[in-house]
Amino acid sequence: MSNYDVIVIGGGGAGLTAALYTARGELKTALFEKLTPGGQIASTDEVENYPGFPEGITGMEISAKMEEQAKKYGAVIIPQEVTGMVKNGEGDFTVLCGGERFAAKTVIVASGANARKLSVPGEKEFAARGVSYCATCDGAFFRNKEIAVVGGGDSAIQEALFLTKFASKVTVIHRRDALRASKILQERAFNHEKIVFAWNAVIKEIQGEKVVTGVVLTDTKTGQERTVPLQGVFIFIGHDPVSSFVQDVLQCDDHGYIITTDLVKTSLTGVFACGEVRQNATRQLVSTCGEGCTAALAAQAYIDDLN
Ligand code: NAP
Repeated sequence: MSNYDVIVIGGGGAGLTAALYTARGELKTALFEKLTPGGQIASTDEVENYPGFPEGITGMEISAKMEEQAKKYGAVIIPQEVTGMVKNGEGDFTVLCGGERFAAKTVIVASGANARKLSVPGEKEFAARGVSYCATCDGAFFRNKEIAVVGGGDSAIQEALFLTKFASKVTVIHRRDALRASKILQERAFNHEKIVFAWNAVIKEIQGEKVVTGVVLTDTKTGQERTVPLQGVFIFIGHDPVSSFVQDVLQCDDHGYIITTDLVKTSLTGVFACGEVRQNATRQLVSTCGEGCTAALAAQAYIDDLN
């Protein structure tokens, strides 16, 4: 069994920052990430509000740099999915990856959240055949095509704007008549010639043959249905926490978010949580990285106390 001082679970902004701090603090650090490090930020087109980058930086670029920086100070990235965690005693945790076991003195959970699904007919069937949850990954497939974006938050509007680079028309489908997105994004979308809005509308069904050919919309006020022909549906309706592997050991709220005190302390001494998996996280890259730093410092203090 491999032994570490710190095991970080999750390689988004929070996890990569935590690993950078603990590794640079000379703690033997392993970071587990089942996909490519970067988390949600890696699939974001342009990050405009991370301080220090007045021209903006792509999500892929900043996550690659964060990974490089954590590795530079000795963090080991292990590309495996964590399936469970056990506390054996003070300063003695076992992290499980299927049949494999890894030991650590402290654990930082930074496993983030996954894109929420609409759960309508056609969504699963046409995944990667017109249905997408990542504009950066799939936008280029929709050059000169008509597409829809579902949602009214920052993600939906930011990605709708990005998708205008490719699509001939972007219909934002929102279940209410007002957006949740920040005013600056709203203004840009309202003034964009390629973006139109389907207000008070929800998707009843995504239709297609081999690929998507249209959506059936229900008007939330009148109940009337209409079919909109289009070739792509990008869904940005929020996220659900990735926390099933700690549900039986850490206190979580009804939605599965890990409950913390003093920002990053979980219900289990020696285990810290940061980023979007944590209840009441602010969910901005800069604050998520700040939480990663706070969790790392708390983990360091916990190990100092053990010694
Ligand atoms: P969000 O703010 O929770 O917005 C989700 C949107 O999807 C809402 O408009 C919601 O409608 C809609 N929605 C939820 N469930 C739905 C369903 N079943 N059917 C139809 N519509 C549904 O999520 P987000 O946009 O992913 O943003 C998450 C966080 O990241 C936020 O704090 C946001 O500020 C932040 N973020 C910031 C930036 C930036 O600063 N540039 C970029 C991206 C994200 P209602 O409005 O009716 O609830």
